[in-house]
Amino acid sequence: MASFKGKSGTCLDISASHPRWRIDLAGKICFHFRSMQYSKYSAAGGTPREPSPSVDPKRLRRRMVREQLEARGISDPAVLGAMFAVPRHLFVQEALRSQAYEDTPLPIGYGQTISQPYIVALMTQLLEVQRGMRVLEVGTGSGYQAAVLATIGCTVFTVERMRELYQITSGLLRQLGLRGIHMQRRDGTLGMPEAAPFDRIIVTAGGPEVPRPLVDQLDEGGIMLIPVGSKPRTQRLVRVRKEQGRVSSEDLGPVVFVDLVGDHGW
Ligand code: SAH
Repeated sequence: MASFKGKSGTCLDISASHPRWRIDLAGKICFHFRSMQYSKYSAAGGTPREPSPSVDPKRLRRRMVREQLEARGISDPAVLGAMFAVPRHLFVQEALRSQAYEDTPLPIGYGQTISQPYIVALMTQLLEVQRGMRVLEVGTGSGYQAAVLATIGCTVFTVERMRELYQITSGLLRQLGLRGIHMQRRDGTLGMPEAAPFDRIIVTAGGPEVPRPLVDQLDEGGIMLIPVGSKPRTQRLVRVRKEQGRVSSEDLGPVVFVDLVGDHGW
């Protein structure tokens, strides 16, 4: 998906601080909503599955964090903690669930993809997010990136243009009971002016330019990450900063994202 490399770091296991995600040894997910407990949830509209003793998502995530993230230089404890806490397998289709923790992007239907874990972690780290920040995400897709940001403690405003993905993902996010995610269906290249300004903006699809409305909606001191390229599916990851009213941008390297389609996209 992208060609970034890095050095190794250390891992912080913060599963204990995320009581909402609890995984039993049979691989079933148990969610705790306030005092109630819902178990055997199998995501994406599926029915509860038979326990499969060979699959332990928590163990797969621990390995993913160690081998795919720390080994390549992801070192922000909040990012590593969220990547360990969020059950990525619930954000992919049932048939692909066994591949959810592999080092690869996966199709989520309708020609779209969920990025590989490393890219999600890298973008989250590059975004320099902190608890309490207001983050706009353009391209909700599976909802996984939004869940990672919300688990860190950000308030996430996320927009998706495709009706089907909007319906599936908004339903999933509701079922998961994750707080702090506001999802809407619209053209994200126009941003969300009624909720602006944002401390951070993350665009998870690539277009030919940095949309002007997104620059306008970035707060002072804000950071935006966006894949930009003159050809579809061939982009450079660009980091835009707004400091004392001045806008600067840096090229962070080659990436491959699906197309950003809209008024300021393809
Ligand atoms: N962040 C996602 C990755 C989604 S792939 C995840 O974690 O799964 C990119 C998504 O951007 C696709 O779902 C696509 O439909 C959406 N998209 C493309 N152009 C868009 C636009 N102008 N506004 C909102 N969403 C857009």
